[in-house]
Amino acid sequence: MPESIRLQVAVDAPAHTALRVPLTYLGESPLPPGTLVRVPLGAREVTGVVWAGEAEAGEAVVDPVLGLKPLQHALTSLPPLSAAWCRLVDFTAAYYQRGIGEVALSVLPPELRKLDDTQVRQRIGRLHKALSVPQTTSAPTATPPELDAAQTRVLAELAEAQRSAAAPTVLLHGVTGSGKTEIYLRAAAEALAQGRQVLVLVPEINLTPQLEARFAERFAGRHIVAMHSGLTPAQRLRSWLAAHLGLADLVLGTRLAVFASMPRLGLIVVDEEHDPSYKQQEGARYSARDLAVYRGKLEGATVLLGSATPSLESWQRADEGRYLRLSLSARIGGGALPAVRLVDMNAQTKVKGGGSVSTALSPPLVAALQQRIARGEQSLVFLNRRGYAPVLHCGDCGWKSGCPHCSAWRVFHKLDRTLRCHHCGYTERVPRACPDCGNLDIQPIGRGTERLEEQLAELLTQPDGRPVRIARIDADSTRGKGVLEAQLGAVHAGEVDVLVGTQMITKGHDFRRITLVAAVNPDSSLFSSDFRAPERLFALLMQAAGRAGRDAAQAAASEMWVQTWHPQHALYAALCRHDFNAFAESQLAERRMAGLPPHTHLALLRAEARSTDAARGFLQAVADAAEADAERVGVTLYPPVPTPIARVANVERMQMLVESTSRQGLQRFLADWLPALHARRRACVADQRILRWAIDVDPLAI
Ligand code: ADP
Ligand code: ZN
Ligand code: ZN
Repeated sequence: MPESIRLQVAVDAPAHTALRVPLTYLGESPLPPGTLVRVPLGAREVTGVVWAGEAEAGEAVVDPVLGLKPLQHALTSLPPLSAAWCRLVDFTAAYYQRGIGEVALSVLPPELRKLDDTQVRQRIGRLHKALSVPQTTSAPTATPPELDAAQTRVLAELAEAQRSAAAPTVLLHGVTGSGKTEIYLRAAAEALAQGRQVLVLVPEINLTPQLEARFAERFAGRHIVAMHSGLTPAQRLRSWLAAHLGLADLVLGTRLAVFASMPRLGLIVVDEEHDPSYKQQEGARYSARDLAVYRGKLEGATVLLGSATPSLESWQRADEGRYLRLSLSARIGGGALPAVRLVDMNAQTKVKGGGSVSTALSPPLVAALQQRIARGEQSLVFLNRRGYAPVLHCGDCGWKSGCPHCSAWRVFHKLDRTLRCHHCGYTERVPRACPDCGNLDIQPIGRGTERLEEQLAELLTQPDGRPVRIARIDADSTRGKGVLEAQLGAVHAGEVDVLVGTQMITKGHDFRRITLVAAVNPDSSLFSSDFRAPERLFALLMQAAGRAGRDAAQAAASEMWVQTWHPQHALYAALCRHDFNAFAESQLAERRMAGLPPHTHLALLRAEARSTDAARGFLQAVADAAEADAERVGVTLYPPVPTPIARVANVERMQMLVESTSRQGLQRFLADWLPALHARRRACVADQRILRWAIDVDPLAI
């Protein structure tokens, strides 16, 4: 039979080929768009997705080496991906300036790429069989609590919005403990009752088990699947298939789940919508929050963005009336938010904690902690160390991983087990033992939290004189499987007096016995070069305060302590009043004056090279080439500057800010610019001067 039909297939072509559109292949018969196929590409056979649209004979885009080739086989056992899913991928690729196939294949479960049609059919069969077993052990559905007045009002407004618009986007602004999750649960119940599927996004894997438990308890008998990077490839495939086949009613996951294929999608919840984790930091640098909003419109699904401290982007859109803002302004049961106490560190002459200012503890805070212990209450003490780089040290002799060429500590890179100096780039493999004393147990210095833990242990005691019980939770202390759960369990069981950690412990957890939360040194974010640092700090502190006094009986006595060298700062003044609205308003006004997002739109072009000159030269050359075009469409190109950590392992990194007041203008400009970027890179490949470049649209850190 002649292979006469031309099919468009999205494949993940290597980046250097610059093949960003679907390629043309020959097929024996038409295949619906969204069908998975195996096709030849270069020397390999790869998985691709049939894309809509037929190529005219003249304009076929094909593998430059192979030419026009027939596809190998089609995975017809798998129902095709929906048109809406394909459009979501199209949009992502266009908006974030990536290849269509690159996006499509990177968001499908990796396991799927390895299977042929027979294997897919087997997997589907197994899944159906597993799900057909009656769930005799499933617990009865928990009775929902009676809604309070504020929740009742919010749900009525939500229902009204759903009646008057096909797919409303709702910003649910609710203070911590105001019962937002109950709103998610009710909205989900409503969608499920209408036979639709529900997607719930959370910022971190750590938060999925807790939320999963709450949903599982409420929706016993419903099929709930998780989707995040912590699953095995087989589990991920199973979850994905269950969602794609419509067998799963609820999908709970981290940012990658925004691409879950769900034929009956009716509701997307984005919990803690302000969280930076929703932004992917490599490949297609997408914002799952923003894609969720787009997807809601595509599929006629309600989108519910929830937060106690919404992103200023979302806040602005609510101000403009593009999102419906609903508010829960009080805690459930009428409990008060903790009183905020600022400790003026300038006035503290007897600061505890020795030479390390960053973990210094003021006497009034120590006294307050001691008082809580005496009353049998719990406290939470945390360090804000975002971006902190771990240094290796030896506990026996005190050796630290210094750089022989600079007065700096080399940083431990877990992935390739190297020690790197971020100043001169000097890199070595991690030594097997301490170079000074031979001790085999050399560890990254805990993120300052270890030191803090030691100090607290020295300064505090239980009323009967026994040592204070401290639990430490940070990325280092919880590396082992189950350690985090065990630590959290101990806190919930009341076996801990003081919980110490990084910002990790301030998120989400529903601790019932904590009455004091303390931020030890939050000031560093006040004067950061990153314009979003104050927004993040405010969110972090509000979130942290939300961990105190969650039990209404203790709420009145609960406190949030902030040690600061800048007690007059406006951010702290707003914090003391728990006034997010005032903070948001003043920040948005500042951003408007400074011409920053969300009033303008940004993209970053980054280049990595062997030398600063080469990186700058690349950026300058492509900027010069685009200058006239930029001016015409109202795009501003700023001069190239080094990235915050400019040199890593002898690679120089430079970046250039691209700004426009028009989102569409910026999009068009970037798309038109891409060929020039690829061409310039190719011209530089021969002598290896430019190693990589990437565009980050709506960057979170600049
Ligand atoms: P948020 O997500 O806004 O921080 P949660 O939804 O976790 O708040 O609610 C805080 C606590 O209040 C939870 O323990 C929750 O079970 C409880 N809760 C929520 N709604 C109600 C209600 N209507 N009646 C009683 N308890 C409620
Ligand atoms: Zn040593
Ligand atoms: Zn160095």
